[in-house]
Amino acid sequence: MNEIIRTQHLSKEYKMGYQRIKALDNVDLSVNEGSFVSVVGTSGSGKSTLLHLIGGLDKPTDGEVWLDGKSLKEAKDKNLSKIRRENIGYVFQNFCLIQELNVIENIMLPQLLCNKKPDMNYLHTLCDVLGLTDRMQHLPGELSGGQQQRVAIARALSNDPIVVLCDEPTGNLDKKTSCEVVQLLKSVNREMNKTILIVTHDPDVANTADVQIRIEDGRIV
Ligand code: ADP
Ligand code: MG
Repeated sequence: MNEIIRTQHLSKEYKMGYQRIKALDNVDLSVNEGSFVSVVGTSGSGKSTLLHLIGGLDKPTDGEVWLDGKSLKEAKDKNLSKIRRENIGYVFQNFCLIQELNVIENIMLPQLLCNKKPDMNYLHTLCDVLGLTDRMQHLPGELSGGQQQRVAIARALSNDPIVVLCDEPTGNLDKKTSCEVVQLLKSVNREMNKTILIVTHDPDVANTADVQIRIEDGRIV
């Protein structure tokens, strides 16, 4: 099994005036390619911090992250954004779609931002898989929460990343829609062989994962 994510002694400390907050404390983690991992823990336990460090959105105070064998620590800023762009897809709780762009424009945005020609065949297949084909010209405001999250998932997959990091992706959805979104993520995991990390409060969502990680006070327990 190929180890796709590895962290060693991963720590993040925030300084707030004289106060120091240990958001993440010495986390060692190994995730195999193709697994579906849930990350659970109370609010403030460090779940988002862990995702940000793995995805290279933030830098650790101590320790290291390897993505597919590549150390993020050794990557210079320019290279880090390239690694991030080519390897990671993000899905957030509040969808984070651009309201002025329609569905297909939102999905193409990652390619357009790095001057790449979007692979329209791949994007149309994605829309098909995610049930968005008849909504391509709609604006986000014209879609339900579940549909908006499906657009965000399509956007996360548009660069054909190896890892998809989802931070409370069902937090703004009702139970039924939440189940549908999780089932879609499961099929993306199985059929497209994407490694998925999903932060969630919902035990039902967490239980669908192959591996569950629990975080308390910045430590894996
Ligand atoms: P979770 O996602 O599990 O709710 P976070 O990873 O967002 O938790 O936060 C972990 C801890 O780090 C919390 O105590 C939070 O207040 C603190 N924290 C997170 N981001 C910052 C920041 N930018 N500045 C200061 N403290 C932060
Ligand atoms: Mg969080």
